[in-house]
Amino acid sequence: MNLHHSRALLATALLPVALTAACGSSDNESSSAAENPSSASEAGLAIVSTVAPITSIVANIAGDKASISGVVPEGTNSHTFEPPPQVSSVMEDADVVFVNGLQLEEPTFELAEQNAPEDATIIKLGDEVLPEEDYLYDFSFPEEDGKPNPHLWTDPTYAIKYADVIKDTLVERDSENAAYYEENHEKFVAKATALSDALKADQATIPAGQKQLLTYHDAYAYFAKTYGWEVIGAVQPSNFEDPQPKEIARIIDQVRERQVPVIFGSEVFPSKVLEQIAKETGARYEDTLRDDDLPGKPGDSEHSWLGLMRYDYVTMIKGLGGTTDALDALDVTDVAPDKADYPQ
Ligand SMILES: [Zn+2]
Repeated sequence: MNLHHSRALLATALLPVALTAACGSSDNESSSAAENPSSASEAGLAIVSTVAPITSIVANIAGDKASISGVVPEGTNSHTFEPPPQVSSVMEDADVVFVNGLQLEEPTFELAEQNAPEDATIIKLGDEVLPEEDYLYDFSFPEEDGKPNPHLWTDPTYAIKYADVIKDTLVERDSENAAYYEENHEKFVAKATALSDALKADQATIPAGQKQLLTYHDAYAYFAKTYGWEVIGAVQPSNFEDPQPKEIARIIDQVRERQVPVIFGSEVFPSKVLEQIAKETGARYEDTLRDDDLPGKPGDSEHSWLGLMRYDYVTMIKGLGGTTDALDALDVTDVAPDKADYPQ
């Protein structure tokens, strides 16, 4: 897919919007910007982001005032992803690059550093919002490898912090649209807060002692800490291979001992190992959790960070015997038009 192409198209489509804005405004800056073809307010900021949940949060804030190119295709292993050569030309045109950081997408970050223009803003969101003393290490992300668990966006309180940094960056780089970004940010924070509240209400329906997660991919460590869940194990080793038989045997013992009713696989990392653990322990195997592959296809109303997290929380809570009335009732549509490019 030619990411470049969609950006050019989008810039053209945005032109009438920018002109209308300039006409409706009495301030001189808007009209002088309209005469300057290189101005961000006319062509829109060119934003590059990495995994789909981050692209979606960026799209909620930037709406139709910027072009947004996601780089990591949905459904791929973002932890080992090597960007193809054409991504360097996307970086060459970038005004702003958002990566998760915490060493999730180092090759993509390096490509940005090498190819983005001198004045581009490159932001590692996770590094901005998470103090080092709060880094979490575990079986899948061992401290001796020096790479902390990078999955902050599965926790709404951190997703809101990402949105804060994204809004501040866009306001700084494109001040003429500041009011638009601030309004979208406010609406997004309200929806993320509603998601968090619904999660708290519904997780209270899980039978006592059962707020425990055994997952394949280890994407819920920060979420668990914030919302009082216990991650009793993540099966996937740090090299993303299947675990050793000794480790599998240990997990089987643990599932039996704790009478874990359901174990959660990852849609992005299908694994026979969890199937085997389920078979030997009698636990149910739920294989559809997803950490960076948004539900549906681009353009669908659930294809968003909000839709992704609602889906995961509902899957976890129902799997563990709870009910999800509050989460089911949520409106998870985006707060602004999502024109981002999501490679598939
Ligand atoms: Zn992940």
